[in-house]
Amino acid sequence: MMVPVRCFTCGNVVGEHWEEYKARVGEGEDPQAVFDDLGLERHCCRRMLVSHKDLVDIVSPYQ
Ligand SMILES: [Zn+2]
Repeated sequence: MMVPVRCFTCGNVVGEHWEEYKARVGEGEDPQAVFDDLGLERHCCRRMLVSHKDLVDIVSPYQ
């Protein structure tokens, strides 16, 4: 499943941050700290990655 390349709300590019976000949160880092580090300050853009992770967790047991 592909993460959307751009934020639906503001058009900022978020897809390029997905792999790093996923890897660092997977290693136990605080998602908020990772977002700060990546420069994603708007809530609309953070939502794109957070909601994508949730969707993967819900869908993956059925694949
Ligand atoms: Zn945005």
